Amino acid sequence: MDKNVKKTPFENYLEILSDSANILDLSENVLEKLKNAQNIHTAEISISGGKSFHAYRVQFNNARGPFKGGIRFHPEADIEEVKALAALMAIKCAVVNIPLGGGKGGVQCNPKELTEKELEEVARAWIRAMEPFIGPEKDIPAPDVYTNPQIMGYMMDEFEKIQGRSAPGVITGKPLALGGSAGRGSATAQGGVYVLLDYLKKIGKKPSELTVAVQGLGNAGFYAADILHKEGFKIIAVSDSKGGIYAKEGMNPENIAFGKKECGSISAALEAKNKGELCSEKTCCSPVAITNAQLLEIECDILVPAALDRVLTEENAKNVKASIILELANGPTTPEADAILEANNIVVIPDVLANAGGVTVSYFEWVQNIQNFYWEEADVQVKLKNIMLKASNDIFNFAEENKISLRKASFVLAVKRIVTAMKLRGRV
Ligand code: GLU
Repeated sequence: MDKNVKKTPFENYLEILSDSANILDLSENVLEKLKNAQNIHTAEISISGGKSFHAYRVQFNNARGPFKGGIRFHPEADIEEVKALAALMAIKCAVVNIPLGGGKGGVQCNPKELTEKELEEVARAWIRAMEPFIGPEKDIPAPDVYTNPQIMGYMMDEFEKIQGRSAPGVITGKPLALGGSAGRGSATAQGGVYVLLDYLKKIGKKPSELTVAVQGLGNAGFYAADILHKEGFKIIAVSDSKGGIYAKEGMNPENIAFGKKECGSISAALEAKNKGELCSEKTCCSPVAITNAQLLEIECDILVPAALDRVLTEENAKNVKASIILELANGPTTPEADAILEANNIVVIPDVLANAGGVTVSYFEWVQNIQNFYWEEADVQVKLKNIMLKASNDIFNFAEENKISLRKASFVLAVKRIVTAMKLRGRV
């Protein structure tokens, strides 16, 4: 393959899967089933003004429970990406051992160029196209890149209108007032922090000794920076899609989020601050501008990619200086980069474990919707922590016993669980 042609996210999934298949000695027949999605639904959806978009729902595997996974609105969302993300969802749900399968949806659109009204129309049109295939006992979507609780609210409403019944369990990540769960907003980041702290305990490191760089200040990235800051880590670099900032002395993520909200981006906030236009106590001390590429290679202890896939590649992996990578994004590290990081003794806490807190609290939300009884935030946190620590413990031990990376250990454990369910159903 031409070295300059990036492999697709799905090709990357197949590569990791094949490693696990070898370790587990899976038969061709079983492997074939794990290489293919059970159902792929595509549609052309249109909204007023004559705009139309490609829409997708990939239902990868439901051996362990209903399909589960978010919907992303992104210009680069395509069937290859959605398929890979759906497969990762099946693995992720099995890693944390919740009774759900894997699916993913998408709309190929640029939400930054759409009005609020148009976004609502896209959300409702996606549901009209996919309604026959989803439902609380079939397939339960949720938020992903550039979708949020409000979009989930419109989607639930459209589904309920079509079906003429109340069905809050059709979708998770909803606003609290529409049956969302306490703790869902910060769940992806919080789950990752529980796992990271557990790992640091194992290696005898304290938060106060460690510096962190976070790529992507979206939902997962912002909460991660904020929770880690409150835990005592020093946040020295953050970025969004337009660029980032670095401050050796550390920064308070809440202030950075304030600047981003006021000025549109982190870089614009830095410019405004330098011109004296942004209230200085609401920004960090003396940051300098950096690019996203520089952030990945910055001198720090913990790197948190929390934006898009395939940012750590064969080209830049050798320049990574962090000793731990906490993958809050889905698929941020290519298999080639993984090999380089492993050779350089950099520990990667893989996406399917690190960001599984999101779908775990989605699972709680679905349970609460079905039983129509809601839990306090403290209950959610206790349950989330239990599930994350059980999973990290399983994976850390399995990786250590078998001398394999945490990603391989996660995949092997998850594939084993999925195959067990497939066998018990007589599918293989
Ligand atoms: N989009 C999130 C993920 O990739 C959450 C999925 C969900 O809650 O179903 O894990």
